[in-house]
Formats: sequence, structure tokens, C-alpha cells
Amino acid sequence: MPQKDLYEILGVPRTASQEEIRKAYLKLAHKYHPDKTGGDKASEEKLKEVNAAYDILKNPEKRAQYDQFGSMDGQPFQGGFGGGFGGSGFDAPFDDFFDMLFGQSGRRRSGGGHPGKDLEFNLSITLKEAAFGAKKKIRFNRMETCGDCKGSGAAPGSRPEACSQCGGSGQVRVAHGFFSVTRTCPQCRGAGSTITKPCRACSGHGMVKTTRELAVDVPPGVDTGSRLRVTGEGEPGSGGAPRGDLYIYLEVQPHELFVRDGTTLICEVPITMAQAALGDTIRVPTLDGEAELKIPPGTQSGAHLRLRGLGMPDLRGYRQGDLVVKVQVETPARLTRQQRELLQQFEKAGDGRAYPLIEAFRSKVKRLKG
Ligand SMILES: [Zn+2]
Ligand SMILES: [Zn+2]
Repeated sequence: MPQKDLYEILGVPRTASQEEIRKAYLKLAHKYHPDKTGGDKASEEKLKEVNAAYDILKNPEKRAQYDQFGSMDGQPFQGGFGGGFGGSGFDAPFDDFFDMLFGQSGRRRSGGGHPGKDLEFNLSITLKEAAFGAKKKIRFNRMETCGDCKGSGAAPGSRPEACSQCGGSGQVRVAHGFFSVTRTCPQCRGAGSTITKPCRACSGHGMVKTTRELAVDVPPGVDTGSRLRVTGEGEPGSGGAPRGDLYIYLEVQPHELFVRDGTTLICEVPITMAQAALGDTIRVPTLDGEAELKIPPGTQSGAHLRLRGLGMPDLRGYRQGDLVVKVQVETPARLTRQQRELLQQFEKAGDGRAYPLIEAFRSKVKRLKG
């Protein structure tokens, strides 16, 4: 089902101010509110649609992203690909990120001929690039219509000649007892013409291998397995049919410090026994720098401390994940003489209440012994 333009849903022009959008939303929300409509299904659906549209348009960042990538009615918009990169070959950029977001395919085929072949490209990116988005330059090979023969395969100055076997129809009649059946001509394979003098540049194939360079906008939030589609960057179609598309399969390289779980980033950070016991404020790495983290007194090894919003973004731009710091309390491995003495004193100075886990464990063991 084709989906509607978000601005259309709210009944505002694309140039509407945030305030106009808000007013339009309030009006519609009021109009379709169950209190007003008695809760009929159509109004309920309408309200959902209005809410979803407002959810995106009320947020200037999401709105800009929506404006940039496309509308819900399938009209191609100025997208994230190409743009100032010798990028002329296409005008309807789209990717699966938006297919996913708006539940439609940005692709429409026109009749006649065969659409060009789709191409695939594997692109490896860093976790940081996956988090913040990146402009990546890619190079790939693709077949192009031969410029020398304009795709005919015949040497310049010559022309493909009508096939001698079928006379140009591409089909031959073959006798079969009393009947005769029509078959694809074996000599020209249905093309109706044969090349007597093949073009040198393409050996008569009509296509030549070329290298294409392209700038690709990787949106923030992608993950390994995410697929971007660049419309019209596949191979050329025949008979006026559109070019194929280029599919870019992303692979996010593992990071030495962070493990990703959806939008959550997990970082294991070792701290000292004293820091864990006394509490401290430490600096921890983030994807693009550092952040301060407060370690509360009495922090146990394995504790998860959360830094809000410092994880990965959601691909749809709805929320930012958290950075979870997994604290690892390190037992000192080599003690100086003084440290050893201090620790012995430290243990003696205890009042037996410092270790509730140990206390609980001991009493359990004692009880079970009976
Ligand atoms: Zn050629
Ligand atoms: Zn033929």
C-alpha cells in the first residue's frame, strides 16, 4: 500500500514552521480523539497516522532527515548519495533504511526492454563510522554500454546485418511431421541480426567493463548486515529500461574497547580495589572521546554503570543507546612490602561488617553443616 507524505497527513506545506506543525497536529489530534469520535476504527487509524507523522516532524533533526531522504508516497527526493562527487548517473537515490522506515520500495520500473542488472558491493566500516555515519568513497566494476558501437556490438561504420537464417525475425519455423513450430533462431539467438564486423572495443558484446567511483552516505546506526540501496547505480538496462541498482552490504568491524548489543555499547573498565571500595570519578573512553564516570563507594566487580546516550544511535533516529561500563575490580597482583603490611593492618582493623556477601555465605555454610 502506498504511504502518505507526512506533511500531507498533517495538512501543512513542507515549508511550515515548527509552530505551524504543532498547531496542525493539535487540531487533528483533537478532531480524531476518541472522546470526539466515539472511538470508531477509522478515526483511531487516522489518529495513529497523525501521531506517527508528528513524532517525526516535531523533531527538527528527524524532520531534516525525512526531508533529505524521502517521502512516504514514493517520490524520489534529493537523497544522501552522490552529491558533488562526479555523481551524475542517478537522480533517485534511496536506500533500504528508508524502505524500512516508510515501508515502501523507492523503485518503479517502466515498461519495455530489460532492466539492468543489480550489483552488490561489500563495504567494511568502523564502529565509529556506524555510530556517526560516514561518507565513504567506493570503487567498483560494472559493465557499461560500449561507447564505440553504442552497444550494437558492430564495428563503427558497419551495422549489424539481418540474420541470414531467420531473415531478421529472430524466429525460425521448424517442420515437425505435419506441423511446423516456431523456434528461436539458433544463429542469432532471437536477436534478428548478426554482427559481421565486431566492434574492437567490446569484441562485439556491446558492453565494456568500467570502474565506477561513488560517494556513499552511510547513515548513523547501521550494523553488520545492513543493506543500502543506491538506485540506478547498477548496470544499464536495454531498450530504454532503467538501470539496475547497487546494493551495498555493510560490515561493521569489531572494536577493541566496545562490544555492541543493538544500540547499547558495553565497555569493560578495570579499576583498583581502593577505587571500588572508596568510590572515585574516572574518565572512560567513548566512541568519540571520553566521559566522566562516577564510581560509587562499595562498587562490586562486574557492576554495570550506565552512561546515558553514549551508545549507538537508533537507525530510525528515535533514540540514542547507552554506554554500559562493566566494572572489573582488579586485585593487585604485585604488592610492595609496605602495601602488604597496610593490607594486613586493613584486614585486622575491620569490624566484620565490610563484606556482607562473605558473611552471608559463611552463615549459610554453617547452617547447612547443621
Ligand atoms: Zn563496442
Ligand atoms: Zn536469426
